[in-house]
Amino acid sequence: MELSDAYIDSFIQPRDELLQEMEQYAAEHHVPIMQLSGIEALNQLLRLQKPQTILEIGTAIGYSAIRMAQALSEVQIVTIERDEVRVEKARDFVGRSGLANRITIVEGDALDVDVESIRSTYDAVFIDAAKGQYQKFFEKYSPLVPSGGVLYIDNMYMHGLSDLDIKEVPRRKRTMIRNLKTFTDWIMQHPDYTCAFFPVGDGLLICLKR
Ligand code: SAH
Ligand code: MG
Repeated sequence: MELSDAYIDSFIQPRDELLQEMEQYAAEHHVPIMQLSGIEALNQLLRLQKPQTILEIGTAIGYSAIRMAQALSEVQIVTIERDEVRVEKARDFVGRSGLANRITIVEGDALDVDVESIRSTYDAVFIDAAKGQYQKFFEKYSPLVPSGGVLYIDNMYMHGLSDLDIKEVPRRKRTMIRNLKTFTDWIMQHPDYTCAFFPVGDGLLICLKR
């Protein structure tokens, strides 16, 4: 079963021209930006949490960063992307959005780069990058989140693959799915976090730090 559906999407309000251009670019170039229902839900949770700073892992072309910055008028976002073509596109779109003063794009592998030199804590971390590495991202970046902060983790459903018997998962994706499940089991039992699975978009896991 698909989590996102046309019924929910039918109520989503139109986006401005730049966002529509980005959505079209993403569709044409197969850039996996967040689904509309997913970003709407994430933004609403962020409005409730009211973080002052967000660290995003996986900028792609800057779509979710721009959407989050538009939802929270004061927030400062640092976002990491390793693909240089996407970084260039993201810089261009962020520049045109007028939000470059609140969105800092860091080019590099999230497992190598240093964002602590930009700031030492982040109220929210949004993980939306290589799905097989979620545990590593979590281990590296969760120490930067203060008590009461939140980690939002996208694509927990992996387009339905997470829910299949591993033998039914295409061979080249098995390691990634195994890693994702190991991570999910680990974080759900972690004593320092209270996590809940939100069945929206491609599956959003929300972990509140105690
Ligand atoms: N958050 C974006 C979509 C991100 S798609 C949006 O919704 O608009 C995932 C991105 O993560 C891809 O562009 C990919 O290049 C990047 N990525 C994957 N692994 C990464 C890593 N280890 N470090 C930095 N970026 C990574
Ligand atoms: Mg995603």
